[in-house]
Amino acid sequence: MNFTRRALGATALAAILVTPAFAQDKGTIGIAMPTKSSARWISDGNSMVQQFEAAGYATDLQYAEDDIPNQLAQIENMITKGVDALVIAAIDGTTLTNVLANAAALDIPVVAYDRLIRDSGDVSYYATFDNFKVGVQQATNLVNGLEERFGDAETWNVELFGGSPDDNNAYFFYNGGMSVLQPLIDSGKVNVVSGQMGMDTVGTLRWDGSVAQSRMDNLLSANYTEQDIHGVLSPYDGLSIGIISSLRGVGYGSGDKAMPIVTGQDAEVPSVKAILRGDQYSTIFKDTRNLAGVTVGMVDALLQGGEPEINDTSTYDNGVKVVPSYLLEPQPVTAANWDEVLIGSGYYTRDQIE
Ligand code: BGC
Repeated sequence: MNFTRRALGATALAAILVTPAFAQDKGTIGIAMPTKSSARWISDGNSMVQQFEAAGYATDLQYAEDDIPNQLAQIENMITKGVDALVIAAIDGTTLTNVLANAAALDIPVVAYDRLIRDSGDVSYYATFDNFKVGVQQATNLVNGLEERFGDAETWNVELFGGSPDDNNAYFFYNGGMSVLQPLIDSGKVNVVSGQMGMDTVGTLRWDGSVAQSRMDNLLSANYTEQDIHGVLSPYDGLSIGIISSLRGVGYGSGDKAMPIVTGQDAEVPSVKAILRGDQYSTIFKDTRNLAGVTVGMVDALLQGGEPEINDTSTYDNGVKVVPSYLLEPQPVTAANWDEVLIGSGYYTRDQIE
């Protein structure tokens, strides 16, 4: 009697805990995210769960810790469990062809989230930011910073970093950046002293900060013993942190050795703090709440027989088809506007940063 009552009590309690206040009868959405090692993907996942639930869906959110077989297994599992749609931020954008064929066979629509999924005809839509523009903004920040801090130098010595070569975005960031820098390299104003250019040379596998840090160590010891470096094009805050420790390690940022201009992306808390300290010059804010919003809208339209909203039908050719896309606007952030952009938008509270 006692046991039964306790057991019933536990069941009732569990039911209360797992049943949200609103009905989630529109289906279940499988959300596959790459890694928790970067805060942005955690915000992406949380925002999506919140917004899908508010729209009447249940969610199955999984992180794969940057391990490709792990992500494949998670997606397979979601398909087996019978999700109604998949939202995927791929680790390696080229490895999902077979698993997506299985989804397509069951009429499960797939939205590529932030990163394009390549080599598959089974990607329905793509929600992302204007990735080329991210690169343009990063390089523009770099040039503005160089002008501000090293305006009197005849030539700016600069090194370039790229993102992960298996992430389609990395090429867009790099190409956007080079659209600004190449003319300055051609005119001799910018000198890539190492000569290392091109994604095949400057890419950073899995966006790994420690890989960037050792490459920076090597660049400094091979090229900058007789002259100073003035700037580093870094495509992601997690790389910038490694690059900055390498620079600090050989004395930049103290005495009369000015810290080079280092860019970034994602407006992650440690990097916003580094911007306020003057270690990092800039980052790019991509409001993950809005990306989640666009994605939820797309999935809801797909499942309820509506038309997903798109604003680009030409840029993202994945090798099999041009994937219809919605591109959001990235926003450059520096010490001059962080407060208005990041606190003003409610993305962070002041006490998270100061
Ligand atoms: C995202 C960036 C992020 C990078 C590393 C890219 O695909 O667009 O926002 O910095 O991955 O996680």
